[in-house]
Amino acid sequence: MIGRVSGLEENLPAVRARIDAAARAAGRDPSSVALLAVSKTWPAADVRALATLGQRDFGENRVQELLPKAAELADLPLRWHVIGQLQRNKAAAVVRLGAVVHSVDRLSLAQVLDRGGQEAGRPVEVLLQVDLGGAPGDTAPRGGADPSAVPELADAVAGSPGLRLRGLMAVAPRGADPAPAFARLAALAARVRADHPEAVELSAGMSGDLEAAVAAGATVVRVGTALFGDRPLISG
Ligand SMILES: *Cc1c(COP(=O)(O)O)cnc(C)c1O
Repeated sequence: MIGRVSGLEENLPAVRARIDAAARAAGRDPSSVALLAVSKTWPAADVRALATLGQRDFGENRVQELLPKAAELADLPLRWHVIGQLQRNKAAAVVRLGAVVHSVDRLSLAQVLDRGGQEAGRPVEVLLQVDLGGAPGDTAPRGGADPSAVPELADAVAGSPGLRLRGLMAVAPRGADPAPAFARLAALAARVRADHPEAVELSAGMSGDLEAAVAAGATVVRVGTALFGDRPLISG
């Protein structure tokens, strides 16, 4: 564990330095870009080690993995984020945890989260996941609403008492230049924000493309590999 902590001790400031440099290069205030640590596949002990270094926001893409990890770390003041496809039957548990959901991509999911937020007496913070398309030959499904459907979904979420619309989220197409995709995302975000000024967050950028995302206006970057190292191949 000692070795683990010392690796994270170097990686966390290195990632933060990348974000800060990208923000400055774009003429943005570095404090306007938050780091979401993606802890999927890594044990609770690694999350604890990063929390000791001051990191508070952690993202997971599978609820089955999130729940036991969050339970093990319930003594820490962490904020959890769901960044992967969410099934409706797992929504209630996510609401109970007070997690932010970055991956709302359809009305039926928004509706169950809305019900949960109303029952909990605390609105669920959600981002709408946008499908930016895939690179040629990339068939891995990743979720996300078609961009043309996003304004209407945003209206529905903004009008739901159990939800709080926070913004948009996307993953750039694998194996292609991310900049044009992030530019399309930024344009869509501006359009949504014109109708819903509270939708200020843009969750975009990962270990390999965070600079391009920050240049396009990301306010949250989701970083796993550059913090924790390479995941086992099964995780995708
Ligand atoms: C795994 C994952 C990330 C982090 O990716 P890295 O390349 O490891 O930084 C970000 N966003 C989503 C949606 C993910 O599933």
